[in-house]
Amino acid sequence: MAAPTPRKVTISKSQRITPSVQRIWFTGDELSTFPSVSPGAYIKLMFDLQGNPATSASDLQHVAMRTYTVNHFDSNKQELSIDMVIHADNGITGPASAWATIAKPGDSIMIAGPGQSKPLSSEYDWVLFAGDMTALPSIRNYLSTLPSNATGFAVISVAHETDIVVCEKPVGVEIIWATEMSLPAALDSLNWLSGRPAVWVACEFSDMRAIRKWLKDEKLVPHHQMYISSYWKKGRSEDQHKIDKKQDSDTYLKSLTA
Ligand SMILES: Cc1cc2nc3c(=O)[nH]c(=O)nc-3n(C[C@H](O)[C@H](O)[C@H](O)COP(=O)(O)OP(=O)(O)OC[C@H]3O[C@@H](n4cnc5c(N)ncnc54)[C@H](O)[C@@H]3O)c2cc1C
Repeated sequence: MAAPTPRKVTISKSQRITPSVQRIWFTGDELSTFPSVSPGAYIKLMFDLQGNPATSASDLQHVAMRTYTVNHFDSNKQELSIDMVIHADNGITGPASAWATIAKPGDSIMIAGPGQSKPLSSEYDWVLFAGDMTALPSIRNYLSTLPSNATGFAVISVAHETDIVVCEKPVGVEIIWATEMSLPAALDSLNWLSGRPAVWVACEFSDMRAIRKWLKDEKLVPHHQMYISSYWKKGRSEDQHKIDKKQDSDTYLKSLTA
């Protein structure tokens, strides 16, 4: 299937919703053809190689793309929002995070997508979601669409206690906010339930690898019951991470069939 044509969107609102997260709302006529999406869907923000937002189709020769989950899309209002983690390591950040702190209503950017990640397995006795703040929009959307009798856990690591947000969820699904502990350590201390889990994990690359090994080797979760993905990698831009991720995934999938 051909990739959808990039769309130009305009910021209608930008708000720091918690200390580490900037929510950006986009509107624009070109969203009139944006399809309805499921949890886990994402768009790509397009920047030029200097880190400036691309604002027209003629800017799209050489672009750096940054991936963000569709937090909410309202087709009636033609309004789409994303939640962007603001990060900096010794003052060094990336084009998307830098842009999120200065972008204001009226500013435009080209977006690509939407893309859709592998959905949660539909056959399960309980659910397990795990992720860091980059995965929070997806996990929140999944939790709000689960059947009311679903049971399980969502383990979410946040930078600060003040980054914790209210999530609509079934009563039988417990949310564990990891603030002092790494995501793999928080998962390891879970009271594992019996029966078949449907697992959804997205986080930093090294954490993803540790969690994938734990799920496969210690918890014996079959590959088809899991969605597990790295959303970013410490010390690597998204373009570099994409290369590492493909290599890792190829090696991992080969090991499953060896
Ligand atoms: C399917 C998918 C959905 C995603 N959804 C979201 C989302 O909804 N919200 C969101 O915030 N992110 C999301 N991400 C992650 C986001 O695409 C990356 O964090 C991206 O690298 C940010 O781009 P940047 O320009 O800010 O930094 P880059 O230029 O890519 O990286 C520059 C430096 O910043 C570091 N870095 C990048 N991201 C982070 C981070 N989150 N925390 C700490 N350091 C970081 C890198 O290691 C690198 O050293 C998603 C990723 C995928 C694959």
